[in-house]
Amino acid sequence: MSIAAQEQTALEAVPKRLFIGGEWRDAAEGATLAVEDPSTGERLCEVADATPADAKAALDAAVGAQAGWAATAPNERSEILYRAFEALNDRADELAMLMTLEMGKALAESKAEIVYSAEFLRWFSGEALRADGYYKTAGNAQSRVLVMRQPVGPCYFITPWNFPTAMGTRKIGPAIAAGCTMVIKPAQSTPLSMLALAKLLEECGLPPGVLNVITSSSSGAVSEPIIGDPRLRKLSFTGSTEVGRKLIAQAAENVLNVSMELGGNAPFLIFDDADLDAAVEGAMVAKMRNIGEACTSANRFHVAGAVAGEFAARLAERMGALKLGRGTEEGVEIGPLIDAGQRDKVEELVSDASEKGAEVLVGGSRVNGAGYFFEPTVLGGVPAGARVLREEIFGPVAPVASFDSEEEAVAAANDTEFGLVAYVYTRDVKRAIRVCEALETGMIGLNQGMVSNAGAPFGGVKQSGIGREGGNEGIDEYLETKYVAVNV
Ligand code: NAP
Repeated sequence: MSIAAQEQTALEAVPKRLFIGGEWRDAAEGATLAVEDPSTGERLCEVADATPADAKAALDAAVGAQAGWAATAPNERSEILYRAFEALNDRADELAMLMTLEMGKALAESKAEIVYSAEFLRWFSGEALRADGYYKTAGNAQSRVLVMRQPVGPCYFITPWNFPTAMGTRKIGPAIAAGCTMVIKPAQSTPLSMLALAKLLEECGLPPGVLNVITSSSSGAVSEPIIGDPRLRKLSFTGSTEVGRKLIAQAAENVLNVSMELGGNAPFLIFDDADLDAAVEGAMVAKMRNIGEACTSANRFHVAGAVAGEFAARLAERMGALKLGRGTEEGVEIGPLIDAGQRDKVEELVSDASEKGAEVLVGGSRVNGAGYFFEPTVLGGVPAGARVLREEIFGPVAPVASFDSEEEAVAAANDTEFGLVAYVYTRDVKRAIRVCEALETGMIGLNQGMVSNAGAPFGGVKQSGIGREGGNEGIDEYLETKYVAVNV
């Protein structure tokens, strides 16, 4: 099949309506929102544009299904998740095509995301069987302590556009495993991947009302009534710190249980004893995965003075050789940014750094023509005052700054309100442990440019978030602890 035919097939297969109470339906006022291809700026299709009334209907469905779903056998929840894990892998090519069309990343990256997304379903298929409590004798032997863990209840999930499927399965997987029902609202620029995932879960036997999807162009207006409804028991959000702050404030009204996966400003530290080949390799992954549009993206490179020049030159050579283009085309490695606003921001940060004295070693400009492309860019000798070191770039730009001592490197790494992830390259084991202990982040890649792993706790400290997704901790976000004092 030609690429054009594959694109058409993927687009035709996905439902374009809201998924509420097990039914695919139009928005209350019949409104639709356009989904765009960021590599051309052209409209791909329209999907239903939910209103606050639809949001309420979706929450009603989740609330209505909660008691029955919580009572299902863990084996049943586990099996649905495992079937969905297999189905995602079976359909990886078609789903990757859909993701590339609406999000822009190269097909190989979209496929890697589908496989990564499926891993959360496999992991939580196992976790569904392991939720446990305990029983013990009280210290004075007068009573017994019985501790049980029960589903939190109906959840509301808000997800971003950069990993349209994985940011969904990271929440949906543990919620299904724990016995929670949910309403999910994907980003308006990438609703198709979530609609396709909902259809797949429906086909894998997820009962009506357990998962409800609303797509909307007015995220605030549809979210507020859900978050303000006392029947909702949990809000889990992945997105910017700015929006996360607003949602925490709204959730405070009903003292709602919240999980927040927010923005980052990841430092990538390279010491003078590091394996420079490995550091360049790791830097390519940490910087260029997802076109630099990842919360875990290396935002700034702090490199020991003795090797900073060589590292920057080698990174520039590698980044300059990447093939830019429409993600569905053969051989393309780097797609467009998500929209014009994101490209303007990246351009602004590069100009600011150049004006303050940074040297553009490769790239540095937007690509004129259709779509929102920006050249892979390496900036050398970036001064401490440059905005690019402080703000989340979310684009293919690697600023390189140098340091003279380990203390200086750690202080620079920690000099941010964010604390999601850091990367450390060194061959000295004592230094590795010392630096890992001193870094104020929730995750660290030690001589490794990627941390994402369904079996590991993903999350940040400081203003990068609250809670963990994946790993042994992941299911805890969806379980409440109940203690019964037993009179014996
Ligand atoms: P965003 O603007 O915060 O949007 C994220 C989601 O929130 C979208 O679904 C968006 O809907 C919705 N939203 C926006 N305003 C809202 C409001 N007032 N009420 C309710 N929902 C609202 O972030 P983004 O630009 O999509 O994503 C990039 C950010 O996500 C970066 O900061 C990145 O670091 C972060 N991120 C974090 C993680 C992590 O795990 N820590 C993972 C991935 C991304 P619309 O699409 O309609 O605007």
